[in-house]
This record gives sequence, C-alpha cells and structure tokens, in this order.
Amino acid sequence: MIQDIEPKRLCNQYQLPKQNRNDYIAVFSGNQILIKETNGRLELPKRADMEAAGCALHADTYLFCIDDDRYFLCSEDAEEWKTGNKVDISNDRAAAADFRRISMRQFREEADHELCFAVYTAYHLYQWYKNNRFCGCCGSRTVPDKKERMLFCAKCGNQIYPSIAPAVIAAVTNGDSILLTKYANREYKRYALIAGFTEIGETAEDTVRREVMEETGIRVKNIRYYKSQPWGIDGNLLLGYFAELDGSDRISIDENELSCAEWVRRDQLKDMDDSFSLTREMMRVFYEKYDSV
Ligand SMILES: [Zn+2]
Repeated sequence: MIQDIEPKRLCNQYQLPKQNRNDYIAVFSGNQILIKETNGRLELPKRADMEAAGCALHADTYLFCIDDDRYFLCSEDAEEWKTGNKVDISNDRAAAADFRRISMRQFREEADHELCFAVYTAYHLYQWYKNNRFCGCCGSRTVPDKKERMLFCAKCGNQIYPSIAPAVIAAVTNGDSILLTKYANREYKRYALIAGFTEIGETAEDTVRREVMEETGIRVKNIRYYKSQPWGIDGNLLLGYFAELDGSDRISIDENELSCAEWVRRDQLKDMDDSFSLTREMMRVFYEKYDSV
C-alpha cells in the first residue's frame, strides 16, 4: 500500500530543524505539485536546486522526514501563508532547470512509490495549513506554534490541530463472491469496494453497515477489521473491513453514488495489479483466499 515504504520510515515528529541545502521542497499550487525531472524520473526539487535556478525561496514549514530526507512546505501563492512561505519560479533560469507543475493525478501515475507517499502526506498537511490560516472562532489570522504542530489564534486562544477524516472501505463477501461497485460520475472506472466517511456519533462498524445499506441495499454481519491506510490527498484515514452478507443478496443501488454494484466470483477477479491502495489489497486478499477472510 502507499504507506509501505520499508525499510525506509516516515518520521513525523514535529521539530524545527535547521534548513539545509538538501531539503526537499513540496511546492503546491491548487492541486498541482512542482516537480523536477532527472533522466525521466520525477523528483521534488531541493532547496539547492531552487537557489541554483535563482528562485526567490522562503520555505520554513517543516513537514516530516523519510529516513534522512527532510521535507519542507512551500506555495506559489503568497496569500496562503502567514509565515510568508513562498517561491517564485517565474524566471527563465527556473524554467531551464526543468521545473514544471503537474496534476496530482498525473504525479501518481508517473512518480515512484515512496515519493508518492511523501507527496500525498505533504498535500494533507498543505491543505490543513491553507484551510486554517484564519481562526474558525474569531476570524483572526492564526500563527504556527513553535513546539508542536498546531496553529494558534493569539486573539481568542483557539488551538487548531491537524484533522484527519476517518472513512471505511467495506469488502462484503458471500461465499465465493465479493460485492464490487463502480462509481457514478467519476473518472475512476475500475471496480471498487464500498466506501464512505464516518459520520459524527458513529463507530466505524456502524459506518460499514450504513454505507453498504445505503449504496446497495445489502445487510451485513460478522464485520472484521483488516488494516488502515492514510490517504493524504483526501485528508482521510481509511479503515478496511471485511463483512459477510446477512440475508438477501438482492442488490438495489444508489444511482447517485454508483453506476453498478454486483457480486463477482473469486475466479473472475482481475485488475488487482495496483499495490498502492487498500481497496486493491483487500480484493487481492479475497482472491488469494487469505485465512482471515
Ligand atoms: Zn480566534
């Protein structure tokens, strides 16, 4: 899955390290990321690359490290940051340095696994910093705390910590079949499992029962936790569950959410080549008749 980068390790303990020429800089602009291409391989630019290209760079928001590689955050929109984090890549030397912006979707298709995880995680933090520039209580500007990852409102004392939205992925099985779906009105056309956000007041198991019922009209029992997955591009923590059909197998789909939902036999499963997502792993686990299913 996206977070499986062993033997490397993400360390997200908050600190204020000294800036270094080898720091990687994650520069976002809307849903685009600034990349540098070296021999056909996508990389994030380092502080040294940007200085060499004559970019005016100010990036002092530390994100995390992966082993010894440290990542900092930056934006091309000066208005986004109280701290003034920003970079200007509009000069000719910057263009000649092979910097370019690509969409996060294209990035996922072209970047290697570890870099994808780093950038998705950076994007989650980027969204959090950007969306909490102003205090939700009094509307004043917030400032980053120096001791922990927290934004502080000096006017009313409000403290804002990073937010993560829990969501479930449900693999519903019926003997040798699994309930697969396709989303309506989305670019993603492959089979998926049922998924949805946990509502306030629910347990994750409640979410599994509710989402499966809402989207397919199916009742489930024997709900078992499988694994979780951080999914930074949407700010989620995905919680994967297997569950069994309880009662009728007749499907009634929610056409606002899905274009189809059907029982697919184990030997008909395909499209499991993507090692990136919890959904694919759960489908593969079912296909391989893993003991816990
Ligand atoms: Zn406030």
